[in-house]
Amino acid sequence: MSLDSLSAPIAPSSSASRTIALAGNPNCGKTTLFNALTGLRQRVGNYAGVTVEKKEGKLQVGETDVNVVDIPGIYSLSARSLDEQVARNVLLGTQADASRPDFIVSIVDASNLERNLYLTTQLMELGRPVLVALNMMDVAAQNGIDIDAAALGEALGVPVLPIVASREVGLEPLKRRLVEPLPPLPKRHWKLAPSLEDEIKKLADFLTEHQLIEPLAAEGEAIRLLLNDMEAAPVQIELPPELENRIIQARERLEAADIDWWAVEAEARYGWIKHICAHAVVTAEGFKHTTSDKIDRVVTHRILGPLFFAFILILVFESISRFAQYPMDLIGGFFDYAGDWVRGLVPPGDMQGLLADGVIPGVGGVITFLPQILILSFFISLLEDSGYMARAAFIMDRIMRRVGLNGKSFIPLLSSFACAIPGIMATRTIENPKDRLVTILIAPLMSCSARLPVYLLMIHTFFPSGKRIGIFSTQTVVLFSMYVLGIVAAIGMGWLFKKTLLRGHSPPLIMELPPYRFPAWRNVFSTMLTRAGQFLQRAGTVILAISMVLWFLAAYPKNIQLSRNYATERQQMETRFQAGQLTEAEKEQQLAELKVAEASERSRKSYLGTMGHTLEPAIRPLGFNWKIGIGLISAFAAREVIISTMAIVYSVGDDEANENTQSLQKALQNDRYPDGRPVYTPLVAVALMVFFVLALQCMSTFAIVRRETNSWRWPFFMLGYMTALAYVTTLIVYQGGRMLGF
Ligand code: GDP
Ligand code: MG
Repeated sequence: MSLDSLSAPIAPSSSASRTIALAGNPNCGKTTLFNALTGLRQRVGNYAGVTVEKKEGKLQVGETDVNVVDIPGIYSLSARSLDEQVARNVLLGTQADASRPDFIVSIVDASNLERNLYLTTQLMELGRPVLVALNMMDVAAQNGIDIDAAALGEALGVPVLPIVASREVGLEPLKRRLVEPLPPLPKRHWKLAPSLEDEIKKLADFLTEHQLIEPLAAEGEAIRLLLNDMEAAPVQIELPPELENRIIQARERLEAADIDWWAVEAEARYGWIKHICAHAVVTAEGFKHTTSDKIDRVVTHRILGPLFFAFILILVFESISRFAQYPMDLIGGFFDYAGDWVRGLVPPGDMQGLLADGVIPGVGGVITFLPQILILSFFISLLEDSGYMARAAFIMDRIMRRVGLNGKSFIPLLSSFACAIPGIMATRTIENPKDRLVTILIAPLMSCSARLPVYLLMIHTFFPSGKRIGIFSTQTVVLFSMYVLGIVAAIGMGWLFKKTLLRGHSPPLIMELPPYRFPAWRNVFSTMLTRAGQFLQRAGTVILAISMVLWFLAAYPKNIQLSRNYATERQQMETRFQAGQLTEAEKEQQLAELKVAEASERSRKSYLGTMGHTLEPAIRPLGFNWKIGIGLISAFAAREVIISTMAIVYSVGDDEANENTQSLQKALQNDRYPDGRPVYTPLVAVALMVFFVLALQCMSTFAIVRRETNSWRWPFFMLGYMTALAYVTTLIVYQGGRMLGF
């Protein structure tokens, strides 16, 4: 097969629909373009079996439906990381759950042309037509870079269309191009030494003969296999032994001829790219200091940088506690109303109980926190989109270094603020296996969004909203402290692990800081929607199921031996009232007390109550009673379930239709020990939050650690150390707090 045959045009697969893939470096504006093209017609999920994000969308141009597949942001196609592997597989059509794109759109950041074109040259070797979308033309212009798109396209051998994705400039011509007849397949213009070309050809022929890859992509695959040292790759791919042998032999021949096979590819590609750019690009002098540089002088400053970072975090938490209350009350009110409505509709019995005391408070209790999740994800995506997140990692590198880790570990830790699972997945970018393991072990200490509802319930219930410390409300300060505690614990444990179990040097951090950009609202909005969707999905599935089980455990067994005959006592009270021995108010009060006594005896003797009581001796020193114990047991499945549990525990037994349903907050405030002491004090609330900061209460995290470390040892180690840490720290906080007189 000659190289020239690669350039024969191929007919469009079908005129009615076409699949295109968007590929590009991180930060090239891929998400922005994807959103601008597809609007809200998109779906986000995961590729089967891996947690690499799968994003697909649709648009219509004239008569043609175009499916747009968004590939993860990558710098190359060497398949050294999982993202790169998935990207390759999707582009080659070998990813199980994605159809082969007809056409590849390579998005290139015009302000960073040479580095971005590296990936483009690799995309051009996959045997599909390629179109370059030259994005960020505005930024390039500001930086004094003038690119002749036509000349660039001429030199590359593929069409090049300039665009500004964030302002939707140039999108119409791009869209039209997407449905026109496909451009010819690109040729490989760069060449290597003849002996290398010879080996590449031999390997490509072997791949084609054995149908290991489709013929058009064989040459690119041969280059990748032969010239990439995959030894250090975190994800190893099994090659057929025959192929493996051929590669080894070819490399031996090259080494015998004194050719450094591992060094030639990057050199050759960059050589060609430099050559093209020399013709198509003119850079004006005197554009050294951009606005980004100026901002960075303050924001990444040794002292001002961390201060600014802390200020941003406080601002985020202040907004959460300030703006969320009203929508929260609305949602809470809605579920209260729904509960009453069901009580009126469904006759008393198990069905009513399951719905009104199980499902509705269980799911509702968690959904109430949707506003907070929205606000948090709003800020996180704002910070990401503006380019600040990378600075946060850079600032943290200095601190991480003291611990013996580097800033690379901070990015997974930062993602863990949303959820430990993507955080742990993100550790795949850490080359050093020991550093990676340490990062996995400490990632779940960062406060994820499932903890937020728990913190907020405690804070809103037990800390007055009016009080302030300095300019911030007490509530904000407490919330902020919980996040800080998680960070401090993570850094401390990281240090400990690096000193003891997993000693070793960490390589220095090499990371690029993308320029600051004004965030695109569409991106921010779409991230918020996605997060909200995931949160609601969890509430509608996992939490719904657990709520139902919990309700059953709390409501059964029914035929229990009660210590008093409540019905008779109620009757007696009525009689005494009739006889004038009790006033109306006294009767009401005694009836209410009786009702609480009955409800609490019933729930004490339920299955759930028995479990809580069994646990109680162990958690009493932490200031927790058996009801909290039940919450802790159920929260080992997923943290936010504690809220559902509490809502169920405190409402079961409340059988009679009760028009003024107590909110969970009130129920917690009013809960008393038999001697009249309140069960919850601010100290107990803090102790409970501290426990939640430090304990591993998440089955999904456990499962992902099992998978990522490929052993049972590490997930169990993690569960053990985190539980011990949580227990001991909470014990110190509670007992210490009591000694100090709180
Ligand atoms: P991705 O990492 O490739 O998905 O990049 P994003 O789409 O998230 O974009 C990164 C940043 O660049 C965001 O702040 C975008 O708003 C911004 N951005 C995207 N395209 C352009 C553009 O053409 N011009 C400018 N000035 N900013 C852009
Ligand atoms: Mg993106």
